[in-house]
Amino acid sequence: MSSVIENKSSAALDNSPQNPILIEDEEDIEETQGQERDLNGDVKRTRKIALQKAVRKLLVGILEDLTSGSDSDYTKYWIDWFLSSKGNEYFCEVDEEYIIDRFNLTGLNSEVQHYVQALDLITDSLEEELDDDMREQVEKSARHLYGLIHARFIITTRGLSKMLEKYKKADFGRCPRVLCYNQPLLPVGLSDQPYTKSVKLYCPRCEDIYNPKSTRHSSIDGAYYGSTFPHMLFQVYPHLLPPKNSERYVPKIFGFKIHEIAKQHRWQDQQREEQQRRIFD
Ligand SMILES: [Zn+2]
Repeated sequence: MSSVIENKSSAALDNSPQNPILIEDEEDIEETQGQERDLNGDVKRTRKIALQKAVRKLLVGILEDLTSGSDSDYTKYWIDWFLSSKGNEYFCEVDEEYIIDRFNLTGLNSEVQHYVQALDLITDSLEEELDDDMREQVEKSARHLYGLIHARFIITTRGLSKMLEKYKKADFGRCPRVLCYNQPLLPVGLSDQPYTKSVKLYCPRCEDIYNPKSTRHSSIDGAYYGSTFPHMLFQVYPHLLPPKNSERYVPKIFGFKIHEIAKQHRWQDQQREEQQRRIFD
């Protein structure tokens, strides 16, 4: 019994306060009930279902308690969940005040489906009852909307300083180029238009871009970071720009620099051609 509760609660905590997992569970339960009828009243199964239902009730109760705190606690909840979800490590926390100020969101209403509900969900003020299908759509819109707000926020003074903290901790990974000596990277979009290019990582030392290592990160929309962000960061914090090194990797074959070998080869080819001409002419 205790292990069931433990498993369930960890699954519930991994999800949004609105708990898609629990909703899915409900479907599972209904399905199991169907099977149960087919099996002509398997007592063990019935008990299991009753137990699942009891656990679900208990968890819903706990979650309701958790989310009925003061307004500011409540407001932080969706964003906390979003930031702690796997794959969202590149995002920083957008200030509540920034989201609440509608001026900052100008134009986003035409870019996001179910804009009003999505915004309510982000700010934990969604009171409307939604069916599973609609909730899923609003969830998706909320994630998209958060991404678009994020792109605007991270080029503000406050957003830049938040992202700087993440950069200092190398939250975005390090440059894979050997001669960049583990230089921390910064996320960048190749386009400011959503649904065009996924996020890339910019190395301020070699000034090149790389694909994120993890597929979870490489599927993030580049527009959630935008094309300006890393360059704006070094405009505001120029002293943090890493020193350029002119060090270059030199390709060699058996210790000889390749262009020297190539020169030698060309000379040898010429000699051979000349000798052949002399023999056959
Ligand atoms: Zn580099």
